[in-house]
Amino acid sequence: MESNVRVRFAPSPTGPLHIGGVRTALYNYLFAKKNNGTFVLRIEDTDQTRYVANAEQYIIDALNWCNIPYDEGINKNEKLGPYRQSERKHLYKKYADILLEKGWAYYAFDTSEQLDAHRKEHEEEGKTFIYNWHNREKGRLVNSLVLSDEVVQEKINSGENYVIRFKSPQDETLKMVDEIRGKITIDTNTLDDKILFKSDGMPTYHLANIVDDHLMEISHVIRGEEWLPSMALHVLLYRAFDWQAPKFAHLPLILKPVGKGKLSKRDGDKLGFPVFPLAYTNEKTNEVSRGYKEDGYFSETVVNMLAFLGWNPGTEKELFSLEELIQEFDLKRVSKSGAKFNPDKTKWFQQQYMQQKDNTELTTLYTAILAKKGITKDVNYVQKVVAVIKERAVFVSDFWELSHFFFQTPTEYDAKASKKNWKEGTSELMRELNSIIDDIEGFSSENTEKIIKEWISSKEIGFGKVMQPLRLSLVGKLAGPHLFDIIAMIGKEETIHRIENAIEKLSQ
Ligand code: GLU
Repeated sequence: MESNVRVRFAPSPTGPLHIGGVRTALYNYLFAKKNNGTFVLRIEDTDQTRYVANAEQYIIDALNWCNIPYDEGINKNEKLGPYRQSERKHLYKKYADILLEKGWAYYAFDTSEQLDAHRKEHEEEGKTFIYNWHNREKGRLVNSLVLSDEVVQEKINSGENYVIRFKSPQDETLKMVDEIRGKITIDTNTLDDKILFKSDGMPTYHLANIVDDHLMEISHVIRGEEWLPSMALHVLLYRAFDWQAPKFAHLPLILKPVGKGKLSKRDGDKLGFPVFPLAYTNEKTNEVSRGYKEDGYFSETVVNMLAFLGWNPGTEKELFSLEELIQEFDLKRVSKSGAKFNPDKTKWFQQQYMQQKDNTELTTLYTAILAKKGITKDVNYVQKVVAVIKERAVFVSDFWELSHFFFQTPTEYDAKASKKNWKEGTSELMRELNSIIDDIEGFSSENTEKIIKEWISSKEIGFGKVMQPLRLSLVGKLAGPHLFDIIAMIGKEETIHRIENAIEKLSQ
């Protein structure tokens, strides 16, 4: 049964979703699913100057790729919509008016030049200008706390620009609780009277965010640490409206792999790893940013890696499916301190998931790569190859390098290895080997191994004298899986053909 746990992911569509944003979405998703709740997607697009058209679709695609789709939002169960703030514009003025009426907000007409002058003046005296109880009623600032109602109305009617500011309380110690950080106290005298609404009819983030969280019946706000400084204002706004505030949980920062500070979009380019779930093309510059998906990572890898950036299960277990994460996830186990991003660990997760991946699924992926190279092979054959090579692969894109010899006769031979291993007499030896191979009946890996090794022993020569040239003939270099597995896979005719080829190309 659905519970009344309702969480939301509320990104601003200003560009591609950074992995920090995906982690916020993931924790919201896990928390919702664990508690039989609802995961809502809301697009916070009130800042039209930073709006990027393809960002919203990118966000939705990224959530879908990670298998953490929203339950409610754009085009899905729109029962408390619309879910784009730009489509809710008409709603917010009413709420700003409620605060004005209740005395929790006031009109301010100060121009930016005037405010700059106040700031400068304060700076010269070594002080910081804060628009709040310190100065809002002293007569130097132009607002409805000091002007008469008539003057205020006149200014508004004449079309003068105004803002509506929150009237933060004086001399109060605000006690709040964060689900991750515990008790937090704030001296309200340090808060400035944040702008809630502007005369262009648009609310600011703060007003729109809490009005929507209230109307969308959000029970828990789970978001990044960068929003912690806004928590006091948000708690005060709920109180001013007489609304029950949701519970808050602020997630730790994701830090750079080396050095100090937050992981930035630029770190990925600098250090060579993606910071976005999906590749992204900037509409204006056509610049392409790498994505985990396109770099060959499985979504399971990305989800598992992100889950561990700030949370741990309290045990040694590191590999968690989405289902297991839902079972285990607990805000109490989210850390307060920043989580260092570790690209090597991400690769490790990927390698683990490669081993776990179903061979049939990998075969489908590899068949598509082979088809692009013009190679069509029986599915069972490709599946056998996949089973042999996957333990050495991290990405599906590694498969070709690890297995081309299962599909193609080598056209080149490693020069250094050839020089060292194809000596005088090798060609004769290999010709002889070919006639031995020709006589083998039952071309299994075990059988060919037994017969060839017996033949080498009977000749009383070192194994390497045959095995190395044989590997060169079949693979082109001294690498690859068990040689007799290759022989059995490619079959007698092709084995003989490759040996003849090598004799022709490598005879001195
Ligand atoms: N729109 C804000 C963002 O871009 C949402 C912050 C919040 O979750 O309250 O992160």
